[in-house]
Amino acid sequence: MYQPTSDQTSFFEPRFYLADYLPENDWSFIFREKIWPIIDEEKFRHLYQEEGGAPNKSIKLKLSLLIFMSWEKMTWRTTEIMFERRLDWINATCSQLGDKPIDHTTLHKFYSQLENDESAYQLFADLTNAFIDECQLSKSKQRTDSFFMRGWLAILSRYGLFKETIRTFLMVLRKHQFVLYEKISVDLSKDYLKDNFDLTEKDKENARGKTKEMAHDLFLLKSAFENHDHIKGYDTFKTLIKIFEQQCKVKENENTDLDKDVIVKESQPNNEQEDIQGESATTTDTKGERSRKTQENKTDQCDPDTQVTRDKNAEKNKDLVVKGEKSENQNESFPVEIREKPQGDKIISSPHNTDAEYTRKRKQTVVGHHAFVTETCDPNNPFQMVTDVNLEKATHADSKEIFEIERRLKKNNLKPNDLYGDAGFVNGESILQSKKNGINLEGPSSGRSQSIENHEKKNRPLDVADFDVLIDEQTKKLTVIACPAGLCPKDQKLSKKTGKILVHFISSDCIACKHCSRCPVKIGARITTLMINETQYAGAVRHHRYMEDSEYRKECAVRSGAESLVNEIANAHGSRTSNHKTEKRSRLQLLFSAISCNVKRYIRYNQEQGEFCVENTIT
Ligand code: SF4
Repeated sequence: MYQPTSDQTSFFEPRFYLADYLPENDWSFIFREKIWPIIDEEKFRHLYQEEGGAPNKSIKLKLSLLIFMSWEKMTWRTTEIMFERRLDWINATCSQLGDKPIDHTTLHKFYSQLENDESAYQLFADLTNAFIDECQLSKSKQRTDSFFMRGWLAILSRYGLFKETIRTFLMVLRKHQFVLYEKISVDLSKDYLKDNFDLTEKDKENARGKTKEMAHDLFLLKSAFENHDHIKGYDTFKTLIKIFEQQCKVKENENTDLDKDVIVKESQPNNEQEDIQGESATTTDTKGERSRKTQENKTDQCDPDTQVTRDKNAEKNKDLVVKGEKSENQNESFPVEIREKPQGDKIISSPHNTDAEYTRKRKQTVVGHHAFVTETCDPNNPFQMVTDVNLEKATHADSKEIFEIERRLKKNNLKPNDLYGDAGFVNGESILQSKKNGINLEGPSSGRSQSIENHEKKNRPLDVADFDVLIDEQTKKLTVIACPAGLCPKDQKLSKKTGKILVHFISSDCIACKHCSRCPVKIGARITTLMINETQYAGAVRHHRYMEDSEYRKECAVRSGAESLVNEIANAHGSRTSNHKTEKRSRLQLLFSAISCNVKRYIRYNQEQGEFCVENTIT
């Protein structure tokens, strides 16, 4: 049940009970006096029932602890323990000595509730706006950058991927269907639960052979349980199936007699057993499905060796039979082969985070997500404030995200006049689109050599920006006036097929031209054609400006400060690596890193100003 935090003070608050124990300008006083009151818990009201049930733990307190946790890169358990022991935390959250601690599972549950809506992002925007208004920071200039947030598991080889996929599934199977686990495990090539989380093969020469064996094990498990009423609904089993289909294939024209060798008969639903096992869900029972998923998730997070629930109704599983013995030459006869390259739209790189994608940027290879951060960068600001963060798939391009960044900034009343980005964000399309949004997107244009030396060479290749062009102020329509040699086009028209303007010159003029070898035109027998459009021209003009105007380059250099922000968010606030299995929760992790970064900067500014001093004794 929703219940707002009480604003009643207590004599057992540390500022009264242990007066002068904390310095007068301690950060916790600034937090409690200036930040605590502006956390609007009404915006989180919808996460709770209006009536009935126990009152919720203070939302302000939970949000504050999530901020402190991110500020100091703590775990759930450490946060729970520290709350009882840290006077500054107790003081900052208007709590009193001896208050009942917040259990880490309560905190984690609240965090999970936040993943499905915008309330946490709204908190970020509200706090940011409040800090900016109070400190009178200018938001007219901002800079943006991106970095990769790695998944919590490193890049896995096929050996590691197969082994970990089977292990995670077997952990769940052992917990919920112990008899089935025992029966199927004798047919597998190894005891996967023996070595907890060992993803390397010491003997490299054996790795390839063992990968094949594990591919066979994947097939064996798939064949055994794909028709099982309950097991086929396990998340870990669904992941196993997907990974098998992406990484392996059944050989063509082979006699796939596996079903004759290994068959797990369908068990008839047995409510009593299912209730004990906690796996009573059918795929159509929403409540049961939730229960099953919860059970499975819990299993995923627990140590299998300590959390095994033995099947008390083993006798009831007598009809679950694994037939056949594994022959010595079974590996050779298994109808499975590993694909040369994984196949599918979204290749799973880790069974623990199926959202994390593999990508490569220059020499860097990553399985994880792409994080985007934006902050103010006006040199007159006493400190800068993070104005936007977001997390997307690892393959999501900077040039796509720039439109979303601008949309969010506009929506949250944080729109800049000038936004600085690197070549990944800036191209003809994003320059023109930003202009429509009332934002000047500044920086070098992508897809071109950034070598000033090469650009200054007299024989450099020409591009569309070397042509004389007129752009209509009203319609923004582009017309080519003259080529670099000063010749007027014969004619020009819009191609409906390509959406580009086809500008024609006379070929005999071009063949005789001294710029012929450097010009971007296509020379035909009679007609020479230049293809051009507005976005292409805008990108090329920006490239020329960046290469030729040293003052403009100096102005754009302000963007490089965003790299320190990346360093701060990623390393100081723990967003370099995701602590979570899903993209939504990883996004939330990044969001709280940004909130804690802003809170920290705001508090430090107040401390530096030295104007903030609270009465911490009873008067
Ligand atoms: S090649 Fe043709 S279009 Fe290009 S500069 Fe020379 S005359 Fe002009």
